[in-house]
Amino acid sequence: MNNTPPLLGEQIATPIGPYLGAHMPTAGGHACALTAGHGIGCEAVQIFTASPRQWRAPELKEETILAWRQALAECGTKKTIAHDSYLINLAAPPGSEVLAKSRAAFRAEIERAEALGLDFLVSHPGAHGGDGEDVGIARLIESLDILHAETAGAKVRVALETTAGQGTYLGGRFEHLTRILNGVKDPERLAVCLDTCHIFAAGYDIRTPAGYEETMAQFDRIIGLPWLQVVHANDSAKPFGSHADRHAHIGEGEIGLEAFRRLVNDPRLAGLPIIVETPDSETMHEVNVRRLRELIAA
Ligand SMILES: [Zn+2]
Repeated sequence: MNNTPPLLGEQIATPIGPYLGAHMPTAGGHACALTAGHGIGCEAVQIFTASPRQWRAPELKEETILAWRQALAECGTKKTIAHDSYLINLAAPPGSEVLAKSRAAFRAEIERAEALGLDFLVSHPGAHGGDGEDVGIARLIESLDILHAETAGAKVRVALETTAGQGTYLGGRFEHLTRILNGVKDPERLAVCLDTCHIFAAGYDIRTPAGYEETMAQFDRIIGLPWLQVVHANDSAKPFGSHADRHAHIGEGEIGLEAFRRLVNDPRLAGLPIIVETPDSETMHEVNVRRLRELIAA
């Protein structure tokens, strides 16, 4: 983005770029994610509101919520996002223990995100476990309808994430997301999160200018660009079409730097959070966020 102030009297529409940020650790408290993120140049921050590998999650303490709101005001973070637990599968078979636990855990995810006043809760659409895409999508829709009803009035939007389409995971095709959006009773409670590593592994080739344009055109044609509200910027350690989900540092994987240059300069993504979820957060998040920022055309 051009940081030069406009000349006096000149009519220049200030271009709004994307809000760059990272998935920040919450060790030391949720608010630390905001202050540490601010310290490394994040305008958007994503967190886990509880441990992503445990079913049991304590309710947020009042002091945690107050500290979060204070840090948010101080840091001026533009977009705040939670990512849900890895254990949750809202497309699990009816009557299964996993489905019951997943729905209870996801309801708590929504409640924690709402208590913190977050903009989005990013969620993987789940896995059908061998019962087929149609069945899996129908189960997910039923779960979402139940959860939306249980959390009526919540403002946080659930952003369904594109996946690498590994195993029986849903979300490897844009069509899956369209069917979910079309199927739920309250689609306005939902949004879509596009992960560059996942779509690349799922078979959307964003490496070339033509491939990037075709992918965005497909997203618009199949899902509709207004649904795109969160972007995850991760390079891929695994090859194109591998259906394997392994994130790499920006410009150091199979996707390469030029695709990320197109991404951060894409006017269709103006005002959206672009979040890195790359390894070695302590040392590399700052580097990856800076890499993205340096790609924004001056
Ligand atoms: Zn992601």
